[in-house]
Amino acid sequence: MAHLTLKDINKIYPNGFHAVHDFNLEIDRGEFIVFVGPSGCGKSTTLRMIAGLENISKGDFLINGKRANEMGPRERGVAMVFQSYALYPQMSVYDNLAFGLTLQGVDEDVIDEKVRRTAKILGLTDYLDRMPRALSGGQRQRVAVGRAIIRKVEIFLMDEPLSNLDAKQRVTMRSEITQIHRETGATTIYVTHDQTEAMTMADRIVVMKDGYVQQIGTPRELYFDPVNVFVAGFIGEPPMNFLRGTVTDGKLAFGKVVYDLSKKLGAKVKDWEGKQVVFGFRPEGIVLGEQENAYVVPCSVELTEMLGDNTNVYVDIDKEKAILKVDPHDTPEIDSDITFSIPYENVYLFDGETEKRI
Ligand code: ATP
Repeated sequence: MAHLTLKDINKIYPNGFHAVHDFNLEIDRGEFIVFVGPSGCGKSTTLRMIAGLENISKGDFLINGKRANEMGPRERGVAMVFQSYALYPQMSVYDNLAFGLTLQGVDEDVIDEKVRRTAKILGLTDYLDRMPRALSGGQRQRVAVGRAIIRKVEIFLMDEPLSNLDAKQRVTMRSEITQIHRETGATTIYVTHDQTEAMTMADRIVVMKDGYVQQIGTPRELYFDPVNVFVAGFIGEPPMNFLRGTVTDGKLAFGKVVYDLSKKLGAKVKDWEGKQVVFGFRPEGIVLGEQENAYVVPCSVELTEMLGDNTNVYVDIDKEKAILKVDPHDTPEIDSDITFSIPYENVYLFDGETEKRI
């Protein structure tokens, strides 16, 4: 298990494009870190710099306190699983798993023991004789993961390993990867654009946008304490609702609906007079009906989506749109007028200019 340090890491590609800016992170031994963010935000570039597949333009990368910028991938003790997992089609699962060790001239008995142990961890024991073409996508991906973990590695890197799988396989593989991580204990960095994967798998998540780290924290911290509009909108599904407006007489007004910000900001509301503020609340952060210590909001129902465990209700709040998540038994009628309450503690306010949390 390795302890990793990324100090002011930057990537400037030969064409001059600055893909990663001042990336700073300490990763503990055995930690499961997820890099998440929209396409092009620099996740893969950062992962490839850690793997040794891409040089670091500026900054220091340390493994167990030792500078590793110039080390090759093997020397770093990394194994990597990519989105496109190329298995050898003419080889059985057993041989696919054994291949790397065979090349290294490892003793056959040792190889056999390792292949069987890895297959057991991954639930592939019954498939060792099969050819890759006779496996499902999920099983193939498990073989690819197996090939990476069969060597004892300190650092395990995965770049969108589940993106070729269907939704159900993704859910299964998600928990399997978490399980493998528990068993191997390898320091793991996992790249995805999927916030659900990040939330369910990570010890800590690094949210990136346009080459900049936005926030680093546990899933809980990011969900309950987002530092800016981007993180608040990226983590959570459906995303947080945002209303943007200018503070007038301590209030935000959207048509007939008025939010008295002094309830949330107290005397500090004066500092925001005449300024742009973003008012955020999560779809699940509301209660239907009227409640005390809450913003009470009348709205009309435009659409409902019954998902089984909950219903998403799309509402119009005097021309502003929002999504509410309610108990399916409370699903309102389309076109009906309803009222919901947002407890003050469930409201997030952001500076409309900097988008930072107030
Ligand atoms: P995705 O989820 O789409 O893979 P990502 O967050 O992993 O996105 P990167 O692949 O790290 O993003 O790319 C970050 C930025 O760097 C992108 O704008 C990309 O176009 C750019 N980029 C990647 N490789 C190169 C390269 N070799 N030369 C120049 N720019 C590059």
